[in-house]
Amino acid sequence: MARPNLIDKLKKALPASAQPPLDAIHRRARAESLPLYLVGGAVRDLLLGRPTLDVDLTLEGDAPALARRVAAGLPHVRCVVHSAFGTATLKGSGFRLDVATARAETYDRPGALPSVSPGSLHDDLLRRDFTVNAMALSLTGDRAGSIIDPFGGKADLDAKLLRVLHEASFRDDATRILRGARYGPRLGFRFEAKTLHWIERDVGFLESISGPRLREELTRTLREPEPQRILLRLQELGALRAIHRALSFDGRRAEAFETLNRLLREPSSTAYLALMAWDLSLQEAAALAARLALNRRQTEAVRAAPVARELERELSGRVKPSRTVELLSPFPLPTTWALAASGQERARRQALRYLRRWRSLKPALDGHALLAMGAKPGPRLGEVLRHLKAAKLDSEVRSRGDEERMARRLLGLSSDRRE
Ligand code: ATP
Repeated sequence: MARPNLIDKLKKALPASAQPPLDAIHRRARAESLPLYLVGGAVRDLLLGRPTLDVDLTLEGDAPALARRVAAGLPHVRCVVHSAFGTATLKGSGFRLDVATARAETYDRPGALPSVSPGSLHDDLLRRDFTVNAMALSLTGDRAGSIIDPFGGKADLDAKLLRVLHEASFRDDATRILRGARYGPRLGFRFEAKTLHWIERDVGFLESISGPRLREELTRTLREPEPQRILLRLQELGALRAIHRALSFDGRRAEAFETLNRLLREPSSTAYLALMAWDLSLQEAAALAARLALNRRQTEAVRAAPVARELERELSGRVKPSRTVELLSPFPLPTTWALAASGQERARRQALRYLRRWRSLKPALDGHALLAMGAKPGPRLGEVLRHLKAAKLDSEVRSRGDEERMARRLLGLSSDRRE
């Protein structure tokens, strides 16, 4: 019997802008009797009553062709096709809808990307990571509205268990360990006993995963609300060491993550990366950045972390604000935020004042003002401006008048008669 209530629930759970394209593709698949399914995390979240953000549809048939026909009838929707994968994405303002041809996957060697061929829904579910992600909601035909659950995903959902579909799962693709660790805190799930055993046995296969794939998984981890809990779990599982031998995470790092979370309303994953490299040597930080194939900005932040750590001692003493600015201004901002979250107490306060106030403080006078006062163009002008800025930071000058007097003295100009 058809149970359209889950389909209605899905449509209601989506942002308003995503409903017309989903309706359109659903109508057309029904009209053409095409077997269309909702799959993956969206089914899991729908059953859990959690908000659905990504809609992944699978078609037993030519998904790009269906997506193109649907997009042709929707004025504000773009259709991007990836022919090699048999997938298409419908994009509009504020939504994306992925439609994929059901496929089977085989792994030639651990960590390699899979070989893909068109397959049935069952094949498509079989290639997935955990049973709770291997369910489908049928959208068309006699079974419209019912859940297809060949691996017991619903029972695991109720028991809050993460269970892989077969014993070789982590050898095929060890990034599933990182994915599982993310679901733990997010959904309140734990690994089923055998799955945990297989993780412990196969964690070393993370070595076979390429840098770009690890970077992608790690940055997704760092975008979760409490990444420190996931990283502590990965440490316990031996996964961090398997990614790179110098990579580790402990309670102290977790506290620094929490501090960063309090300081920045939206913590940057780059600042988190800098924190992860905090205790490393220069060489280790560089090697970690290379292993994770970090982008330029991330690499700079990570490589600067051990250098910033060396500043903790000086910044913990009595340092003038101008000296703090001189020390910190060469550093990438994410690394300085890491210092503000992780250094010794006084060093942290200095870094925070630098980030929140001092780095944007400017003297009242600029180059034009100095020229108008009679200064000659040249490098001396820059020196005087820097001197003025330092004096302002250290409260040696407070008003524009103070600055003008100091500038005249430094430039050897006669003082204003009106004074
Ligand atoms: P999230 O909520 O974190 O986005 P998701 O479950 O939607 O999680 P995606 O990364 O968008 O995850 O992947 C969509 C689906 O594809 C997953 O639910 C899972 O079934 C499958 N999947 C993704 N990556 C893998 C993988 N490495 N191995 C097996 N299946 C995977």
